[in-house]
Amino acid sequence: MEYSPTKLQQLLNDNNFNFKKSLGQNFIVDENIIDAIIHKSKIDKDTLVIEVGPGAGALTYKLGQVAKQVIAYEIDTRLKDILNQNLGCFDNVDIIFEDFLKVDLTSTLKKYKYDKLYVIANLPYYITTPIIMKFIEEDIDVDKIVVMVQKEVGDRFKAKTGTKDYNSLSIFLNYYFEINKLLDVSKNVFLPKPKVDSIVIEFKQRETKLILKNKTLFFKLIKDSFKQKRKTLKNNLRDYDLSKIEKTLTRYNFSLSSRAEQIPIEVFAALANDLSE
Ligand code: SAM
Repeated sequence: MEYSPTKLQQLLNDNNFNFKKSLGQNFIVDENIIDAIIHKSKIDKDTLVIEVGPGAGALTYKLGQVAKQVIAYEIDTRLKDILNQNLGCFDNVDIIFEDFLKVDLTSTLKKYKYDKLYVIANLPYYITTPIIMKFIEEDIDVDKIVVMVQKEVGDRFKAKTGTKDYNSLSIFLNYYFEINKLLDVSKNVFLPKPKVDSIVIEFKQRETKLILKNKTLFFKLIKDSFKQKRKTLKNNLRDYDLSKIEKTLTRYNFSLSSRAEQIPIEVFAALANDLSE
């Protein structure tokens, strides 16, 4: 069945589907937005796409048309009939009814051949960071993660040095990815309509990463530096060699009275590298 917003609505009515707020179920019913997400994500016939939370399959349908292969993970088994009706025509779309956070992705991916791995998800905010962390922690070589999230959550992900949203997670994510906004999305394109607008952001794997002598130390230093956000580095980093830290900070025009939120990622890298000498 070719997807359209009216047909989707019909499909949901025919299946007496009730949206579950706890699963963040707001489905996109605007074809232009779906097309824009696909176009801006630059998916092509070499791409394996993992979609987290296909819902009724509106985005999945278009992904099936443009990608080499789609693996869609949906936690809500009530969507089985709807997804089978909507996507049954594709032999390159596999739907797996499981909690994405619990799946063994590494062994699943071994069954597929692909050049590029993209992840696409329109998700409730509380699951977005754990999903990104899953790829980092399981060391899965993902080229791009495209997520649609509430606007203020997206803004936090893109936080720049010196702003109130800049924190240890911003630096952690920035180490692995280049983070860009792809699209603003009005709340009016969802069914049911949420309270706030959304944005689509992409996390693109960095081609060249910062040179780190000791990655574990780098991440620990960042976590410790932000331990108490309003405190200075001197206070938060008491357990480190403060004279070494001061020397490096001075080289970059900062001091021990600076706060972590003022420090760019490159300076954290220099601090960690100098400390591990
Ligand atoms: N992709 C669809 C769209 O854009 O119209 C639906 C998006 S809806 C905001 C989020 C979907 O993620 C829901 O279908 C929900 O059941 C599913 N979901 C929530 N948590 C999940 C999890 N841990 N694993 C897999 N799917 C999940």
